[in-house]
Amino acid sequence: MPLTVHQFPCLSDNYGFLVRDEASGKVACIDTPEAAAVLRELEDLGWDLDLILNTHWHPDHAGGNTDIKAITGCQIVGPAEVTRIAPLDREVKGGDVVELGETRFQVIETGGHTLGHVSYFDAADRIAFVGDTLFALGCGRLFEGTAEQMWDSLQRLVALPDETTVYCAHEYTASNARFALSVDDSPALKARADQIFAAREKGEWTVPTTIGLEKATNPFLRAALLAERVGAAGRPDAEAFGAVREAKDNFRG
Ligand code: ZN
Ligand code: FE
Repeated sequence: MPLTVHQFPCLSDNYGFLVRDEASGKVACIDTPEAAAVLRELEDLGWDLDLILNTHWHPDHAGGNTDIKAITGCQIVGPAEVTRIAPLDREVKGGDVVELGETRFQVIETGGHTLGHVSYFDAADRIAFVGDTLFALGCGRLFEGTAEQMWDSLQRLVALPDETTVYCAHEYTASNARFALSVDDSPALKARADQIFAAREKGEWTVPTTIGLEKATNPFLRAALLAERVGAAGRPDAEAFGAVREAKDNFRG
């Protein structure tokens, strides 16, 4: 596969990702939750960093930018909002393309968690980095955007091929599964939740996921079907989604 992905845990529940375009040997880091962890992984792999790709401005995604750039001399690419906490070399928005050697990342606008959040999709390898937009059985909290904006963002991700490998930025899956079971009793969800609880019991990661798996079981993507369960029967899809999001915000399970 032309793009190799190296995933590693950071902070309390983030994942860091280093990717290498095998044709050119160029390396990128998707978000910078923790400079020390990123630098240590680079050293262990013997990789030289060329690029940081930020999904959004939150410190657990861009907080390591400055320290990592100072040591590696890499370029930093991200949405304009990242300049709230650190300078960028290139600002990107939905529709742009970022090249890493022969790999082309399409920038997808996925605002909602933050207003300017973006995701990166490598169509040739069917790999997407979605930051805090879509999680395994979950989605990001609406800190800055509206339910409608997030729903539109999720629709752009759902439009990717089912087999797309989705790298989410946090290991929230067990608590997402507990909430999902409270609003959805589909057999596919039950089966997946059992696998997730067993995996987490053994300390295994539940990231990455796939678009197909999320479409089948993620309650936020199934919001229209679950509308009645969250008191939003007959309302537009984005409002049903908003009701599911609100139910999750208030869920204590
Ligand atoms: Zn965030
Ligand atoms: Fe985050």
